[in-house]
Amino acid sequence: MHGNKANLKYVLIAAGLLLMSHASADTPVAIAIHGGAGTITRANLTADKETAIRAALETAVKAGYEALKNGADGADAVTAAINIMEDSPLFNAGKGAVFDAAGKNEMDASIMEGADLNAGAVAAVTHIKNPINLALEVMRHSKHVMLIGAGAEAFARERGFEMMDPSYFYTDFRWQQLQRIKAKEKSGDKAKLFSTVGAVVLDRQGNLAAGTSTGGIANKRWGRVGDSPIIGAGTYANNRSCAVSATGHGEFFIRYVVAYDICNRVESGTPLAAAAETVINHVLVKAGAEGGVIAIDHAGHITTTFNTEGMYRASIDVSGKLTVNIYRDDEDTGKVLGGKVEH
Ligand code: ASP
Repeated sequence: MHGNKANLKYVLIAAGLLLMSHASADTPVAIAIHGGAGTITRANLTADKETAIRAALETAVKAGYEALKNGADGADAVTAAINIMEDSPLFNAGKGAVFDAAGKNEMDASIMEGADLNAGAVAAVTHIKNPINLALEVMRHSKHVMLIGAGAEAFARERGFEMMDPSYFYTDFRWQQLQRIKAKEKSGDKAKLFSTVGAVVLDRQGNLAAGTSTGGIANKRWGRVGDSPIIGAGTYANNRSCAVSATGHGEFFIRYVVAYDICNRVESGTPLAAAAETVINHVLVKAGAEGGVIAIDHAGHITTTFNTEGMYRASIDVSGKLTVNIYRDDEDTGKVLGGKVEH
């Protein structure tokens, strides 16, 4: 009896060591982030702004990667990367959130873990500096998946979140953008910029996670909620397939359940890049929808796929290679479409 107990003890110690070695410092980790897709061309981005955006993307992706390297849980690494973009006025999330038609900033965010399909989301919050942190809080400290508006903010207060004055979210760039869009509504100008932010990761435990944070679409009707906080539409993670964060015309991403559709195809055996290509460059193009995704699978393969002229994006792959891209021709991924679909 005594011997059996001792044996069991050694078996447990050995199992523990095996688990630890599985998650050793050499276990591959990887991350991809985006800062939105849209009509992003060299002609409409000044050199200064391009430099600032590339620098912000690099800082954000490195923050997430460092967290992963230090053994952070995937959701915490996603949050670390997204917080940098939320705090930057350059992206449509947190500090740089777009204005709705009523001149207010209403923000949405969501996060999901691939190990157990746990998820948290918030929508239409107006006083939260980092909406992704509140989505994480909903996931970890409430029995719900999504809280909205005043209810989400009451929860934030209970959990000790700082309430920002709405003036914190004011940026002159976004205010002028709203005025331009309102003026252009009559002229029919179709140029679009979706600068929502997101991150997808493979953590040291081999778990996937995804998160997305946004101010939504400029000049949206107040109360409008897009795909970003909708699990399966703008954000999805499942260890059996992949993790996805989307940016683009949210109404279509909800209707076509884009993030889930990509992962579902991966689970059925389609390679990640092909699955994203089919959904973004075929299904969505056929529907007339603009946007893109970043995605990662359990092996750490990364794809950044979009059907717009550009997408702010960065990644650090399993070999530690850093990539920061903006324009379509920055790298030869995806295909230019301009509304044309080949089947
Ligand atoms: N997908 C976001 C929304 O529809 C917008 C964006 O990607 O910038 O709310």
